[in-house]
This record gives sequence, structure tokens and C-alpha cells, in this order.
Amino acid sequence: MDLQQVFRRPILAVADNPVVERTIRRSGGGLVSRFVAGETLDLALVQVRRLAESDLTATLDQLGENVRTAAEATTAVDSYTTILSELAAAGLEPNISVKLTMLGLDFGDEVAHANMLPVLRRAAEVKGFVRIDMEGSAYTEQTIAITERLHAEYPGVVGTVIQSYLRRSEADVERLTRKNIRIRLVKGAYAEPASVAFQGREAVDNAYRMLLVRMLGRAPYPAIGTHDPALIELTKERATTLGLSPDSYEFQLLYGVRRDEQVNLRQAGHNVRIYVPYGTEWYPYFTRRIAERPANALFVLRSLVDR
Ligand SMILES: Cc1cc2nc3c(=O)[nH]c(=O)nc-3n(C[C@H](O)[C@H](O)[C@H](O)COP(=O)(O)OP(=O)(O)OC[C@H]3O[C@@H](n4cnc5c(N)ncnc54)[C@H](O)[C@@H]3O)c2cc1C
Repeated sequence: MDLQQVFRRPILAVADNPVVERTIRRSGGGLVSRFVAGETLDLALVQVRRLAESDLTATLDQLGENVRTAAEATTAVDSYTTILSELAAAGLEPNISVKLTMLGLDFGDEVAHANMLPVLRRAAEVKGFVRIDMEGSAYTEQTIAITERLHAEYPGVVGTVIQSYLRRSEADVERLTRKNIRIRLVKGAYAEPASVAFQGREAVDNAYRMLLVRMLGRAPYPAIGTHDPALIELTKERATTLGLSPDSYEFQLLYGVRRDEQVNLRQAGHNVRIYVPYGTEWYPYFTRRIAERPANALFVLRSLVDR
């Protein structure tokens, strides 16, 4: 039985309950710090430096999504430009991941696009890169269209994410590759209906394989965002078969997940980037990490019951 598939929807639904949220916010401590680098930029930078000691690069994500006011979106613009400057000043690669709903996408495409411009301007100034994370399927088309516009204005400074569970992704990979826009390939972390997304691990993994094979050697500097050993192996095999230079793609893994593998991949000569989330708004991100793995959910449940 596909436990991940069976549990994801109910776990995400339970996590939405305000009482559960309050309880986890108060006492989820130990597991939260495994997945989230800290509540402040300074704490996150400590972790980025620690990763750099193992020659691992990072993409920083200041957690937050679906802001409720235009002022909150403006605050996010300011903090993203500051993060880029601080990374550059610290001699670290200025690479961040952002969510368009944190930059006001719920107020319209124009708002999100306008808010991205100062972020990309700063990224271009410090020779950095901004990855636009992919959110729920209600935002997919807008996210891709805005990325295309931004890429035309700041070529090579911005890219986005494709989720293999979405039925539309094959066409989206072609669309972005044709425009030379960088893609991070992931399986997808939201609970999506069968009308838009493949259901079940096998179908999602098969789609990932197919997209991976399409992208390697063709798409510009693809990011292979997975912890799945079979998909990591397939990437290595295809790269060898195609004679790809290790500098023509990178693996990306989440902070706190398969930490040994992160180091092993780097020691084997692959480029490895760790997605480092931080900030006070960690709850939705944390619940998606819990929903990915039934064992994590049991761990949270046990620690709550113990209290
Ligand atoms: C760098 C990066 C960026 C991402 N960006 C996005 C995005 O923009 N949009 C989006 O929808 N999704 C994003 N994701 C999440 C992604 O969609 C998956 O939900 C997540 O990566 C789990 O899938 P997997 O490919 O690792 O395979 P799985 O089959 O889920 O996991 C393979 C193995 O990895 C380990 N593992 C995986 N997840 C966990 C976990 N939470 N805790 C402990 N162990 C775990 C386990 O050993 C598991 O058996 C991102 C993932 C990565 C790595």
C-alpha cells in the first residue's frame, strides 16, 4: 500500500485545524529544528556557513506564503533584497527561493510581477539567482507565465519549479526549456485532485523519470530536487551515459533530509544545493514535510501525546 499517498491528504487536513496548529507551534520544537534552520536570518546564515564547510551550496527561503495585505508583500520584497545583499556581503552565493503568494500573487499577477522586479534587480547586481517555488495547482499557470516575463527582463537570473505529479508538467518542461528557463524538478508537495495530478507513488515516480530524461542534457542547468535514491541513481546513470559534465546540473535536497546523502553526493563530485528554510512562518512548510513521511507524523503525534 502507498502509505505516503494514503496519509498526505488527512495529515494536511488535520494540520489545518487551529487547535492542532497552536499545539504544534507550542511544542513541536525538536522536529521543527530538524527541518527549519532557525527563526532569524542570522541563524540561517550560521547553517549556510556550516553547509559550506562540507562544500554544499544553499538556496535560502524566508518562510511565508499567502500574505493577507499589500504591506506584508512589500515587507517580503524588502527582506528578500536584504537577504541577497547579506549573502553577498558574507561571501556566500546569493541564491534564494521565493513564493509568489508571499509577494502578493493573491492580489493579482501584476502585483506579484512588480514585487519581483526589485528582488531580481538586486539579484542581478550581486550576480545571484532567484528560484520561484511552485505552490498549489491553482497558481501553476500564473507562476509559469510570471517567470517567463521576468526571465525576458532578467535572463538567467530567475527560474522556477516543475512538479512531476501534475499532468500538465510534460508540456511545461518543453515550454520552459524552449525559452532557456532553468527548472528545478520535484515530485510535488501539495494535496491535488486526480483531475490535475497523478495519484499514487508509481505514477508520480514514472512521470519524474520521464521528465528527468527529457531535461538532462537539454534543459539549462537542471536542478534535480529529490531525496529518492532510485531517482538520484537514474540521474547519475544518465549523466554518465550522456557524458555530461558535473557542472551542467545539480542535485537539490531539503535542509535536514538525508543529511549523509547530501555529503556523499558532494564527495562523489556532484554539485549539491541545500534548500534552507528559516523564519517565524514555518508552520505550512513544516506540515508538508510531515505529510511526506508517515514516520514523521507518528513522531510528532508521539511527542504531543507525551506532553
Ligand atoms: C530542493 C527541493 C525543493 C523543493 N521545492 C518544492 C516546490 O517548489 N514545490 C513543491 O511542491 N515541492 C517542492 N519540494 C518537495 C517535493 O515536491 C517533495 O514533496 C519532496 O521532495 C519529497 O519527495 P522526494 O522526491 O524526496 O521523494 P520521496 O519518495 O517522498 O522520498 C524519498 C526518500 O527521501 C526521504 N524523505 C523524503 N521526504 C522526507 C521528509 N520530509 N522527512 C524525512 N525523510 C524524507 C525518505 O527517506 C524517503 O524514503 C522540494 C523538494 C526539494 C528537495
